[in-house]
Amino acid sequence: MSHSVGNGKPFTSVRYDMPLPGVARVTLARPDCRNAQDKRLLYEVNDAFDLAAQDDAVKVVILAAEGPHFSAGHDLADFEVVGGALGKEPRMTDHTPVGCWGGFDLPGVEGWMAMEEEVFLGLCWRWRNLPKPTIASVQGKAIAGGLMLVWVCDLIVAAENAQFSDPVVAFGMNGHEFFVHTWELGARRAKEMLFMGSSVSAQEAYQLGMVNRVVPTEQLEDATLAMAERIAAQPSIGLKLAKQAVNQSLDAQGQWTALQAAFSIHETGHAHNMLLHGRPVDPAGVGLVRKFSAEGPPA
Ligand code: ZN
Repeated sequence: MSHSVGNGKPFTSVRYDMPLPGVARVTLARPDCRNAQDKRLLYEVNDAFDLAAQDDAVKVVILAAEGPHFSAGHDLADFEVVGGALGKEPRMTDHTPVGCWGGFDLPGVEGWMAMEEEVFLGLCWRWRNLPKPTIASVQGKAIAGGLMLVWVCDLIVAAENAQFSDPVVAFGMNGHEFFVHTWELGARRAKEMLFMGSSVSAQEAYQLGMVNRVVPTEQLEDATLAMAERIAAQPSIGLKLAKQAVNQSLDAQGQWTALQAAFSIHETGHAHNMLLHGRPVDPAGVGLVRKFSAEGPPA
């Protein structure tokens, strides 16, 4: 059984299927651009997650990616320069917001922040709270916005060639918009990743408790399906309650409050860059980000 449409529109940037009974799978399907995330892809992921959430036959949802790399992050061409100049085109054309923010095209940081609240923080928080277990299945690089998509999932299966990074300090930013770095890596390793622009290998991520399994790259799909199959044998109510109980423990630790604070800091970074460079990120960072993203994790 497979679906090819979401929200009444055909999927073009993701695939949705049910590889096993009780298991839905959402696959990022822009391998030609390393699954870079434009708004279309993000809203298709959202529609696909909604399909899975609302289908009572689905117990667990896999988020996978086509091609050698999980995701290179945000597709800056879609967010920053539209029609050749910043802010010349409406930011949310063709997309229906799922949050209650508006004013996406207002000038200054007001419109930019509204867009990021809706498209990044809002969607990620929505997916983090999907009432069914989610499993990220990650090969190759997951950079910045790519890492964000991995971290919203409940479980992470990493291919041994997986690398996780968020090199956007080079852009004059704190990190990506879903700032759970401290929870995922621990404070000291999170700071190193950010300050150095370096990546975390699958093995180190396992040692840090950031991923659940590291498997040979060619076994990634089978290992993920095996995990999903076992989870799908459990009653949906138990899974839902267990997920909520763990997430609420994180919330009691202040995760949502910390996320919102880091998001405000993130918008300060964009405001600074807009004042100084006329763009939301420091364009001089491109070279460093390319360099950091091309290198492997530290030995
Ligand atoms: Zn941003």
